[in-house]
Amino acid sequence: MENKFNIYNSLTRKKEAFNPIIEGRIGMYVCGPTVYSDVHLGNCRTFVSFDVIYRYLLHLGYTVRYVRNITDVGHLEGDADSGAEDKISKKARLEQLEPMEVVQHYTNGFHKMMQIFNALPPSIEPRATGHIIEQIEMVQEIIDNGFAYEKNGSVYFDTIKFAKSNDAYGKLSGRVIDDLLVETRDLKNQAEKNHPSDFAIWIKADPSHLMRWNSPWSVGFPGWHLECSVMSTKYLGKTFDIHGGGNDLKFPHHENEIAQNFGACKCAPANYWTHTNMLLMNGKKMSKSDGNSITPEELFTGNSEHISKGYSPMVIRFFMLQSHYRSTLDLTDAALLAGEKGYRRLMEANDVLMKLENATGSTDTEFDKEINSLINQAFEHMSDDFNTPMALARLFELVPKINGLKDGHLSLTDISADTLKRLKETFKVFIYDIFGLKDESLAATNGNGTMDGLMNLIIDIRQSARANKDWGTSDKIRDTLNELKILLKDGKDGTSWVKE
Ligand code: AMP
Ligand code: ZN
Repeated sequence: MENKFNIYNSLTRKKEAFNPIIEGRIGMYVCGPTVYSDVHLGNCRTFVSFDVIYRYLLHLGYTVRYVRNITDVGHLEGDADSGAEDKISKKARLEQLEPMEVVQHYTNGFHKMMQIFNALPPSIEPRATGHIIEQIEMVQEIIDNGFAYEKNGSVYFDTIKFAKSNDAYGKLSGRVIDDLLVETRDLKNQAEKNHPSDFAIWIKADPSHLMRWNSPWSVGFPGWHLECSVMSTKYLGKTFDIHGGGNDLKFPHHENEIAQNFGACKCAPANYWTHTNMLLMNGKKMSKSDGNSITPEELFTGNSEHISKGYSPMVIRFFMLQSHYRSTLDLTDAALLAGEKGYRRLMEANDVLMKLENATGSTDTEFDKEINSLINQAFEHMSDDFNTPMALARLFELVPKINGLKDGHLSLTDISADTLKRLKETFKVFIYDIFGLKDESLAATNGNGTMDGLMNLIIDIRQSARANKDWGTSDKIRDTLNELKILLKDGKDGTSWVKE
């Protein structure tokens, strides 16, 4: 199978032909969530985008090792690199919990949300607190190589020395050291640094700090950026294929990761850097403090002033697919309504398609060629930097043709059996394998029991039919439900139903 594809590289700001380090294999690291609060929709946008990328790489036949970490230490308030409180430590202090209780609670919530959005689990999900020894080792390597220094028990990366010896610093974010100087805020501990743009890789813990480990320099904890350098190196090697995360992580997080990897291993961590764009709401940054935000639960239930009704997880996933991962995604009620229609249209076309049979045409007809060309284009769009909106557009060009074959506007004698088979396979592969959509047509989508209500009605009709000895109707109901993989169970408390 042809497994070539193009990927936009944030480092070179160009789309590039992908070349794996090892033929047939891909190592991909994506920065995971900081588990100190409920996962928000912006996070979901990023992780769903990488889920589609992961799924497409698998579809292309690659063996992918997908590493997505859990940040459970070191991420400080305001993304500071020293002098501020650790987000998890703070939450634990405020809630009077063990930091690991906070971590477990929000990690569970994150996993649940990923399952709801049908995102595949990564191959490895390492936690920063599980890799303290490795982080201490990397700090030592960076010190030994002359790119970090210790001050009062904390260790700082020497950005000036690194920038002078290597033009890698600032390349990803496009910032030069002078900008970095101006942008670095005046924080506590700043005076300890040789230069304001230096950043902490090991932080001495205040007496009140809850998360602390012994190290050669102090009882303290690792800097946020360090964990990703350490865990990506441990599980994917010193240089691996793809590193991902949201746009907001380019600086300082990813810039500093690159510096640390060079500082420790003398090489660049990843060949391709992939960044997703931000989720907006009604054209503005989604922000809790401005009241311009919505939680996934509010979206599902419709319990928010920003939307007219609830939307199901798959409608939201479909809505996300309608924008390219490098474009901003603007969440509006109108866009969600359109997404709902689009999702249903796609799933219905798939249902129609699966029931079509007996194509008898030849491969020479214009119609047959047109179908094949649209299929090819849909895959080409995916292989061109994972362009989901363009691939969807091609599938939607196929939808009226599929519906035409059903209602007789178009003839099954104009399409070959092989092409019809390929068309069916394409829809199946796109919908389920690549886009990761699930069929929700039978599920209660609005959380208001619509499905239960409908099923109770059907069960009542069947009951009456049986009471009237109308076996035709009652059998028809049972058989049709069986076809839809809904099983009726007659018990002593009445009839219940399950979806297989
Ligand atoms: P965090 O938990 O803040 O460390 O973020 C986890 C991931 O979600 C990172 O890759 C972020 O870049 C990404 N992210 C955060 N906010 C948004 C947003 N509004 N839209 C898209 N991605 C986001
Ligand atoms: Zn990271």
